[in-house]
Amino acid sequence: MRNGADSLPPASRPSSRSRRPPRLRTGLAALAFMAFISAPRATEIENEPARDLFGAVSKPSPGSPRPIGFFSKGCLAGAVQLPITGEDWQVMRLSRNRNWGMPALLRTIEHIARDAHRAGWPGLLIGDMSQPRGGPMKTGHASHQIGLDVDIWLTPMPSYVLTPAEREEMSAVNVVAPDRLTVDRSVWSPAHLALIKAAAEQPETTRVFVNPAIKKELCRTAGSDRGWMTKVRPYWGHDDHIHVRIACPAGAASCEEQEPPPEGDGCAEKDLAYWFQPEVLHPTPGKPRPPLPLSALPGECRSVLLER
Ligand SMILES: [Zn+2]
Repeated sequence: MRNGADSLPPASRPSSRSRRPPRLRTGLAALAFMAFISAPRATEIENEPARDLFGAVSKPSPGSPRPIGFFSKGCLAGAVQLPITGEDWQVMRLSRNRNWGMPALLRTIEHIARDAHRAGWPGLLIGDMSQPRGGPMKTGHASHQIGLDVDIWLTPMPSYVLTPAEREEMSAVNVVAPDRLTVDRSVWSPAHLALIKAAAEQPETTRVFVNPAIKKELCRTAGSDRGWMTKVRPYWGHDDHIHVRIACPAGAASCEEQEPPPEGDGCAEKDLAYWFQPEVLHPTPGKPRPPLPLSALPGECRSVLLER
C-alpha cells in the first residue's frame, strides 16, 4: 500500500471482532519475559502479529523521538503524548491510549487548531494518532504507525471540556449523504471546508484523506485559492473524520517518505469518476489480509518494542 492511506479499503478491512489468536498469549508472555533477558530470545516473537505486540505496550520507549519505517509498516521511538485538553482541541476515546506522536505532529495539531479556529471552526476533536510505540494496531488503521498521522473528527468541538465518559460515548457525525454521492446538506457547513483547508495548508502536511463525496464538495466550493486541494485525497471511509499526514521531520533518517501526490487539484472528471463507480462506492467485502508479523517491520522496531 505504498500509495495507501489510512484505513484499509472495505474489501480488505480486517474484522475487529476476530477472536484473539491463541498464540497471542504465548507471544505476550515471551515479550514480558524478554524484557528481562538477552536479545537473542527476540527470535521467538518474530512471527507474532505485530499489532498484538505493539497494542500491548502502554508506555513510550525511552530516548529521543524517532519515526522508523513507513506510515503503514513501522514504529515510533520516544513518542510524546498530546495533552488531552488544549485551548482549542480535545482528545477523544482516551481508553485507546492512541494520542502519541512525534513532536512535529503535536505542533501541527496546535497550528491546525489555531488556524481553523480563526476561520470559524470552534476547535478540534482528536481521534487516533499513534500507539505509545507506534506500530500496527489491533483495530482501525493500516497506517498511523510512525507518529505522523492524526484523525480529526468532522464534528465541531463543544464549548465546554468533555468528561472522560463523554469522550468515550460521543459519536462523530457522518457528513456524507446516505447515497454516498454528496455531502449531507443538513450537517455540512462552510466551516467544514475551513477546517480541511487549515489542515492542508500547514507546510508539513503532505496529505489529508477525506471521503470522495467530501472531495467532490470541496472541488465545487473551494474557489480560486485552491493550491491546498492537491493534498486533499479521496479515500474509502473518512465520512466522519479527516486523516492528516505530515512529512518525515528533517533528519529522521529511518523515516521512509511517501511520494508526493500528483499535481493539480484532483477535481477533473477523470480524477473523481473512479470513486463514484458502483463497485468502488459499495465494494464487496473480501478476505481480511493476514496481519503483519513483527518480522515484516524494520529491524530497529524490535528494540523499540522491547526497550524499558
Ligand atoms: Zn486515520
